[in-house]
Amino acid sequence: MKSAKRYVLKGTVVSEGIACGRPFIYRDILSRELQDYAIEPEEIMAELTRVKKAREIALKELETAEKTVESFFDPSHSEIFQAQAEMLKDPELEKDLTEEVRREMVNAEQALRNVYRRWVGKLRVSKDKTVRARAEDIEDLGRRLLRILLGYETSVLERLPHGTIIVTRCLLPSDTIALDANHAKGIVVEQGSPNSHSAVLARTMGIPAVADIKISSINRHGLIILDANKGELICHPSRQDVGRYEQLRRSGEREYHRLARQARLPARTKSGRRVRVYANIARSDDTQQAIKNGCEGIGLFRIEQIYLAHHVMPSEDDLIQSIAAVLRGIGRKPVVLRLLDIGGDKQIPSLKREPSISPFLGLRGIRLLLRRPELLHVQLAAIMRLRREFDLRVLVPMITLPEEMREVREATEKYRREILGRKSAPLPLGAMIETPAAVLILPELAKNSDFFSIGTNDLIQYTMAAGREDKEAGEYYNRGTKLILKQIKKISRAAAARKIECSICGEMAGNLELTRQLAGSSITALSVAPRIIPKLKEKIRSLP
Ligand code: PEP
Ligand code: MG
Repeated sequence: MKSAKRYVLKGTVVSEGIACGRPFIYRDILSRELQDYAIEPEEIMAELTRVKKAREIALKELETAEKTVESFFDPSHSEIFQAQAEMLKDPELEKDLTEEVRREMVNAEQALRNVYRRWVGKLRVSKDKTVRARAEDIEDLGRRLLRILLGYETSVLERLPHGTIIVTRCLLPSDTIALDANHAKGIVVEQGSPNSHSAVLARTMGIPAVADIKISSINRHGLIILDANKGELICHPSRQDVGRYEQLRRSGEREYHRLARQARLPARTKSGRRVRVYANIARSDDTQQAIKNGCEGIGLFRIEQIYLAHHVMPSEDDLIQSIAAVLRGIGRKPVVLRLLDIGGDKQIPSLKREPSISPFLGLRGIRLLLRRPELLHVQLAAIMRLRREFDLRVLVPMITLPEEMREVREATEKYRREILGRKSAPLPLGAMIETPAAVLILPELAKNSDFFSIGTNDLIQYTMAAGREDKEAGEYYNRGTKLILKQIKKISRAAAARKIECSICGEMAGNLELTRQLAGSSITALSVAPRIIPKLKEKIRSLP
């Protein structure tokens, strides 16, 4: 058989590295939801069985949700789930669904959507307020069933075949977090920005990734080679390509391990200036890699993934267990845990928020936590209990007003006194400097902060008015570097004046071309993806 012709597709580098594997075309939930199709008479039973199974799973989920809400929130909230469970058992609804599949000869997803839409429509126009309120429950129930039918809960991404390169239109942070780095060798996205949260996560996990390559132009069978150092994808590679890239990959790995061995020691410039190197983590794999690579602590623990992993809001115990599991092995090294930063491109379904009109400019980070204090309180209580085991510090995201730090300080002190006693040491509290507003009120923030951590990813976005997700504004985003370097100088000086630590935890901290300038400012630490630590330490040691 004649072998297919080799060709190279050019894209944008998102996360460096090399991968060779088979493509796995992944359709995100939105496009999968559009998959409606007609069925044959002999397929009716199979579709009805799918509906039945989805109902059983939904019932179990609702029971769990009911119990969790009862023990965590106000028990009266659990009635919602009880009511939905009752609706799910309603014989009328079941009959309607069965008839829809039989009569219309459509797949379960389409039948379900038609039936639920009709029910919601009928209930919404009722004159009775309580009947109208049921419409929302029915709608929510329909969404739950649809999600189960589509297999959204147990993402296929968690069960990828070994040696796969994921090819997809776009990847959400919740998708990326579900990836198993042992199986996912690389990522190719059609639409994606190197500054998005998914991109940041891919780099943290050390998965090579390239954006801006059209799915339709990629061969679906056979091997592909992803050269994410150059931003290239080789389709139908020759034998020589496979050999050459395998050699490159191996020598890259050897070099990486050589540097990792040297990375156990602290990093100083030749003139003796010490720059601490911390790790950004989200999962226990990241922590393990960070420890191996010689991290001196955790500079940014993003806890959003813990919330993404729970179907309902995690309780204090859930948080304690999940956080301790991610931090296992870190010992008494300092850990900066960031309070939940939801909003922007990061959403968690269990929060059940209405979609925001302007997610990046709306109730994100601390704004949401102060508006929904129960969310803040459960985190603070869990953190206080975890202090017995870990050396924790807390970082407050998306600060724009001085009173936000004051309010968090008050709440923190209350929980400290209640849980650890009056004589316990205060919990170090840091302001995340990631908005121009925060840069303009540094002296006021410093009064209520024990440290600063600069989130360059958002600071660029908000300074340049260029969305991190917006590929078209990418040029503006990239040209923000100079302005951010000026701001870094200002922020680190303000911190030095108050004798508080000032680190950078945004992606700029890992940009080796900027290390010299950063190490020359009053920055005390850089926090980067675990994989970058060895290279960064070597770079610091090479500086005058
Ligand atoms: C940042 O904004 O630079 C940052 C580190 O936070 P995130 O990327 O999670 O928004
Ligand atoms: Mg940020």
